[in-house]
Amino acid sequence: MITTAHTTKCRRCHRVLRSPASIARGKGDRCAAIEAAFDGLSDKQRAKADQLITDKGIVKVRAGIYKMTAEGGEVTHTASVNGNCTCEWGVRRASATKKTCYHVAVAKLYDSPRRVLRRSDFGKAA
Ligand SMILES: [Zn+2]
Ligand SMILES: [Zn+2]
Repeated sequence: MITTAHTTKCRRCHRVLRSPASIARGKGDRCAAIEAAFDGLSDKQRAKADQLITDKGIVKVRAGIYKMTAEGGEVTHTASVNGNCTCEWGVRRASATKKTCYHVAVAKLYDSPRRVLRRSDFGKAA
């Protein structure tokens, strides 16, 4: 039973939240996943990653490896979930654990299971 009269909206995308877990978090499942993947990136990198997702410039090459086309199709990089990327930040990577670039963050996001999304889709249909 819902005790609050007002609807809670996602802090990130402003969609109305329905699941108790999402409401408690203040974010939808998808947005929470995005934020987790982008953790450690600068605001500038986050903005670029967001743009990449909005532009749908991400193509799966094979499991864990994604090709990303940014900036109007002029720049393409290949990033893997294990932290490797062909961009200038990727090749300059200091260590295996250090966050490299937003390409890797996006690759990790796209490689995460989509079960969470499907569950929320069922919620909508019910
Ligand atoms: Zn959201
Ligand atoms: Zn990169």
